[in-house]
Amino acid sequence: MGEGERELIEPLRVAVVGSGPAGFYAAGHLLAADVPAHVDMLERLPTPWGLVRLGVAPDHPKIKDVSRAFERIAQRPGFRFFGNVEVGRDVEHAELLDHYHAVIYAFGAQSDRRMGIPGEDLPGSWAATEFVAWYNGHPDFQELTFDLSGERAVVVGAGNVALDVARMLALTREELAPTDTTDAAIEAIAGSGVREIVILGRRGPAQGAFTTPELKELGELAGADVAVDPADLELDAASEAALASDTIAQRNLEVLRDYAQREPTGKPRIVRLRFRVSPVEIHGDGRVEAVEVVRNELVADERGRVSAVPTEEREVIPCGVVFRSVGYRGLPLPGIPFDEARGTMPNDRGRVLDADGRPVPGVYCTGWIKRGPTGVIGTNKKDATETVDTLLEDASAGALAPPARDDDALLALLAERGVDVVAYSGWEAIDALERGRGAEQSRPRVKLCTWDELLAAARGSSARRGATV
Ligand code: NAP
Repeated sequence: MGEGERELIEPLRVAVVGSGPAGFYAAGHLLAADVPAHVDMLERLPTPWGLVRLGVAPDHPKIKDVSRAFERIAQRPGFRFFGNVEVGRDVEHAELLDHYHAVIYAFGAQSDRRMGIPGEDLPGSWAATEFVAWYNGHPDFQELTFDLSGERAVVVGAGNVALDVARMLALTREELAPTDTTDAAIEAIAGSGVREIVILGRRGPAQGAFTTPELKELGELAGADVAVDPADLELDAASEAALASDTIAQRNLEVLRDYAQREPTGKPRIVRLRFRVSPVEIHGDGRVEAVEVVRNELVADERGRVSAVPTEEREVIPCGVVFRSVGYRGLPLPGIPFDEARGTMPNDRGRVLDADGRPVPGVYCTGWIKRGPTGVIGTNKKDATETVDTLLEDASAGALAPPARDDDALLALLAERGVDVVAYSGWEAIDALERGRGAEQSRPRVKLCTWDELLAAARGSSARRGATV
């Protein structure tokens, strides 16, 4: 066989950084392509699945079932999982390019958007992302202590994460018990002093970022009533016009109108949705005591886009805790182009672009770090397919430099650096242990929540390709 022929059948070697939905869909599409491909998935945590494990609310087990598709992808020949490996700490971006034809960044949006108001950093003012990571057992967030002794909690934002946080705060012990919420979070939430949870939307009810099934769930809670002031549902002309072509907003409004007619039934907690109010300051002497809000008017631009414009009218809402749920934000990785304003990697169909708009050879992105923190899990499938198709186009055009190192060189390098790589079999050991602990309590799993526990459970795993070991 000549040198040229050998090159043709050499598999395309790709590193996928991040093991959430975007990373797995990218790996799946690559491994199903009609060119032979090897995928090494690098993940900072010892566990895969990203927000499916650590973001999706524990009382939404059906949404988490998507992990079965990821398990099937992990069984495909050519797949390896390298958990507990952080790019930028254990291995540099430039080193990855030496080991692979291409690198696909799929590490999501790891931070939260700021509101930029005084008092935002007072103790008791939390990013919703911190609370979500905590109740889901993220090992970096278990030291946090949420003081839920106050009677009122305020959740800022009108998206699905705000609804998740409000709903989790409202769940009863009986509702939490069959979930994989951490035991510490079940105790804190079930035993909390919170009686009222107020959700603040800065625009109107027709501009909510939440989806209808999630909104409906607020009306079906065992331990909490739901309330909306009918005056908050009166629509201005621009919202009325926008509604005509927006079926999600129409359905949301129907649900909200139902809520506005309800009388409290005496459940121990109440979730109150408010609209056209923006926090301007968080007050408190050493910790959160109240949120000051301004009432907004809605103004439409020539394209019909409705924005909130503050009036002079203000109100102070006393509360013991604030969850800022105004969106996630992507973080840069040294050496890779980053758009600070959007919190994403500048890209053309997944091909990362430099400051002059030229593709950076071999570097791709998918998921939230590509398009921003929007869309549901399934959105990442189309997104990852686009990125992988772009990569395959470049591969067949000869635009990807062959790796300078062999298939096992990265593992050898990591071993030399003392990195305790968790292979897929290591994750399977964690998974089996968690599911076993869960089965004893009729729960899907009881998560291991500390780095020590996770790494101990994974120990002895092997990173051979094929993942069936
Ligand atoms: P999101 O959908 O972008 O919602 C963010 C909310 O914050 C919007 O209501 C936004 O209002 C508001 N906001 C932004 N800046 C603000 C400010 N300075 N002051 C007050 N409000 C502000 O983000 P998310 O809730 O974090 O969700 C992220 C993605 O994950 C979304 O696509 C979501 O659907 C998805 N998700 C889905 C599920 C599910 O399917 N069950 C669960 C969780 C998350 P404006 O609209 O006025 O900007």
